[in-house]
Parts: sequence; C-alpha cells; structure tokens
Amino acid sequence: MIPVNDLSREYLSLEDELKTAVQEVMAGGRYILGPAVEAFEAEFAAYSGARYGVAVGSGTDAIRLALLASGLKPGDEVITVSFTAAPTVAAIMAAGGKPVLVDIDPQTLLMDVSQVAAAITPRTVAIVPVHLFGLPVDMDPLMALAKRQGLLVIEDACQAHGSEYKGRKAGGIGDIGCFSFYPTKNLGAFGDGGMVLTNDGEVARRVRLLRNHGQERRFYSVVVSSNSRLDDLQAAILRVKLRHLDEQNEQRRRLAELYTCALQGLSLALPAEPAWARSNRHLYVVRVEKREDFRRRLAAAGADSDVHYPLPVHLQTAYESLGCKKGSLPASEEAARTVVTLPLFPSLTEEEAMRVVEAVRVALER
Ligand SMILES: *Cc1c(COP(=O)(O)O)cnc(C)c1O
Repeated sequence: MIPVNDLSREYLSLEDELKTAVQEVMAGGRYILGPAVEAFEAEFAAYSGARYGVAVGSGTDAIRLALLASGLKPGDEVITVSFTAAPTVAAIMAAGGKPVLVDIDPQTLLMDVSQVAAAITPRTVAIVPVHLFGLPVDMDPLMALAKRQGLLVIEDACQAHGSEYKGRKAGGIGDIGCFSFYPTKNLGAFGDGGMVLTNDGEVARRVRLLRNHGQERRFYSVVVSSNSRLDDLQAAILRVKLRHLDEQNEQRRRLAELYTCALQGLSLALPAEPAWARSNRHLYVVRVEKREDFRRRLAAAGADSDVHYPLPVHLQTAYESLGCKKGSLPASEEAARTVVTLPLFPSLTEEEAMRVVEAVRVALER
C-alpha cells in the first residue's frame, strides 16, 4: 500500500546529518531555549522574511501567544475560517477571544476574503487567515481591508513553510506569522514545536515573556504566564531540515504537477492554482462525490488516502457554543464532505506517484 506520508523514510534520507546535530546538543549541555533554539529562530525568521522569530511549544501556542502579545482582551472578536484544523479556532478561544467564522471560496478552499468585511464588528481586533494545505490566502485585499479597519492580521502558516504569495513567503506578510513544527508538517520536528514571526519588536518581546513564566530575566516575572518553549534537540533537528526545505518542497511540487497533469479530465476536482500562489504542497487534496466508496476502491487498488478534514470546526461538538448552525457555512460543509488527501511526501518516487494515478483511475471507473 502506498502511504499518504512516510516519516521514517524521510528520516533515513537525512540520517547522518540529524544524528550529528542531535549528538552535539546532547554533549553541549543546554537543552531548552539554548543556542540551537536561538540559531534556529534567526535562521527561520530570515528564511521567511521576518525580523524576529520566537520559538514556542506548538503551532497552537504560536497563535495563542501571538494574540495575547497583541493585547487581545476577553471577548474580543477574531475572524477566521471553519474549514481548518481545529487548533486555529481553539487557540483563539484559549487566548480569550471569540472566533467569528467566515466561509471559504469553494475553488481554493481558503478564506473567502470578500466575506470578511461583513463579519467585522466594533469588537473585532484581528483576522487569522489560514494557508490551508500550503496554498496562501489572497493577502493583498485582506491586508488592505485590515489596514482600513485598524485590524491585525495573524497568519496561520502552520501548513505553509516556504509557500509564497506573489514572491513573498507565507508567514512573513501579515503583522504576525504562526508556524507549527509538528512532525508531519513540511518542516517537522521529532516532537512538538512552533514559532511566532513578526517585524514588531514589542510583540516579539511579549511572546518571549509569555513563553517562559512571564520572566523578564531569570526568576523575575513581570506577567503571569506558564511556559511554552522549544527544546534544543528539536531546534537542532529543525536547523538541519530547514537546509533541505526548499529542495523538499520542490520535490513535492514536482510530484503535485505530475498528479495534476495525469489526473486531468477525470471525475474529480483538482487543487486550485491561483496566479498569486506558489504552494509548498503540504497536502495534495482532491474532491470527489462518493468519497467513502472512492477511498475503499483506492485502497483496494494499492493507494492509501486520508481526509483533511471530515468535519468543519463549527459542526464539531466542542464548538457548538459558537452558535454556527448546520447550513450556515455551505462551502465549508461541502468541502468537508468531498475532500480526499492523496499520498504526497518528498521521498515518494515518481513510479509510486504513477501507481497512485493508476489507482485513482481504477477507483473512479464505474
Ligand atoms: C498543525 C496546525 C496547527 C496546530 O499546530 P500544533 O503544532 O499541532 O499545535 C494549527 N493550524 C493549522 C492549520 C495546522 O495545520
């Protein structure tokens, strides 16, 4: 069975470099917020075109701490989407904010920027666009609207390491960019991790406080906060993998192109390719009508698949309190009903990709 992802294969492709980097940290004796973390913060910020990088414990915490560092107050409204990973919305609520969900564009599956203006109220303080599957949201109109209305734009770039919008890196365009280094992301650690990027020195300073017990310096807390830190083993692993990110994203793009060419004309919807975007191809997501039937036949023909995501956030039990009824975000609900993720990762071979294409053809035959 061809897997959707294979992290041990990815490990083997970088094994020697990773072992050396990990051994250096273990022998060095500094394990949390040490020199490898500092170096990685600087390198990833430079890579993404931001002045400051502050490493934290996860992507969820990156969003939560970015909001708190921006001065979010309980009940402040934050506009985002429902068709995303639940942590986007959970992070807003954990920071005390009230998520206001807008629908997606049915072609790109991204925030429908034209719906944002109508969702703004006097309590709105920020917009969180999600660059889902690595495809960047149309940032120019969103930034212009936010500027007119005095709102912050905090990018959820947790799936968009190295993606570009009109030549600029995702996560380096809004006021703040938030990243996850969860193992399956394009830049993934061997544990949890995240980062906040910004050009605003005051925001960076406040995230640094919030991630480490509110301490201005060791044992002197100036705000009440718990901890959310990156460790040096993860940072050392991420430094190695950052050096390979562009080449790995390129391999993903080549495989995605192969899929997109070979799957033309079949009865499934292929990923949108808006002119503004250069996706990092985090996930290759198609849409089919009879999904469960399709996935069963695909597996029988030798290709595994996954569903990102089967239920939009507003229909999840945990988020009933948001008060978005079924039918209120039709494009999000339709996407959740039809999306299927095909196998795609840098070390997937072209030969395997062609076998996936063949399996898709067989699965779609009536
Ligand atoms: C992975 C992810 C997150 C959360 O990141 P964690 O590191 O798992 O906390 C948030 N938003 C999106 C879109 C993600 O894909």
